[in-house]
Amino acid sequence: MIEVNPIEHFQFDGTPKAKVLIIYTGGTLGMDFNDSGSLVPCGFNQILERVPVLKELHVNISVISFKEPIDSSNVHIEHWQLLASLIYEHYENFDGFLILHGTDTMAYSASALSFMLEGVNKPIIFTGAQLPIASPRSDATENLVTSLEIAADKKNGKPIITEVCIFFNHVLLRGNRAKKVESQHFDAFESENYPILAEAGITIDYHWSYLKPYAKDFIRLNMEMDNNIVVLKLFPGLNQATAAGILLADTVKGVIIESYGSGNVPNEQWFLDILKESVRKGKIILNVSQCNGGRVMHGKYETSSELDKIGVISGHDLTSEAATAKMMYAMAQFPNLRDAKKCLRTPIRGEMN
Ligand code: ASP
Repeated sequence: MIEVNPIEHFQFDGTPKAKVLIIYTGGTLGMDFNDSGSLVPCGFNQILERVPVLKELHVNISVISFKEPIDSSNVHIEHWQLLASLIYEHYENFDGFLILHGTDTMAYSASALSFMLEGVNKPIIFTGAQLPIASPRSDATENLVTSLEIAADKKNGKPIITEVCIFFNHVLLRGNRAKKVESQHFDAFESENYPILAEAGITIDYHWSYLKPYAKDFIRLNMEMDNNIVVLKLFPGLNQATAAGILLADTVKGVIIESYGSGNVPNEQWFLDILKESVRKGKIILNVSQCNGGRVMHGKYETSSELDKIGVISGHDLTSEAATAKMMYAMAQFPNLRDAKKCLRTPIRGEMN
């Protein structure tokens, strides 16, 4: 059971332009030095002390923090369920949501929430930092302040952003299109297959034609995720026994194959036979590319021409992160194999073209 601290409210003077709920899960952003000089997770009060400018944004902030902030490498389905249910529970009371999260698995969590929360019409923004807020050269302040502005922004009284996004290093990306691509520099995230939604410079410039339009909707919560899946990244030299062990394992109900280029796999008979046997046993196989940009095109090369016939589903331009979350979602929501496969073939939250 993951515990959270009681909600804290930080009301700011004057008339607030919006109310934003911040959920603080951990990660590098919220770290401060302890008495012996080591970096440890700090509370939101310390973050406010470090970033006093937050008080000048005219936003009423409420904060729910994990009792024990986590490194996002420890994120599990239960954390996604907690985040989704907190947003669902508080949805009507806030104009936007900001999730402070470690960068390592942020793209997975943003993808998962995009599937678990259906009918979203308010901003749900993930952000984090490459350097702790306590570090003099930290990117945390900029990421935090601008994300909060985006989570609070409205046009004609309506939220501008109506989906799950990641804001990082000046750019706002669709959450289920984003990928962590950098562990050293500040430009940690990219979205090769979908344009940037907004850029923060002197002003925040929204790229209106790529934003999901506002639609009056009812939010629905889909809590169940089925994690009986595996991601198999192809590499030259993959041996038959290992491939069979993964693709035919009894505990595995779905396999995401990270294939080469535009969806190519070895077309040696033994590999195709394993794929056939796996599909015959009722497993779902979804083909995504190891490349960050471009898409899977079954049949473009001979090395992918058999895949449609075998019943391997093309993941088009899905990221591996979005594919992972979507497969867990589809398998849990649609116990019927045919419906789960249909869901995987269909864009449902702007995650693929
Ligand atoms: N390992 C950290 C995490 O993902 C890295 C970060 O926060 O950027 O929680």
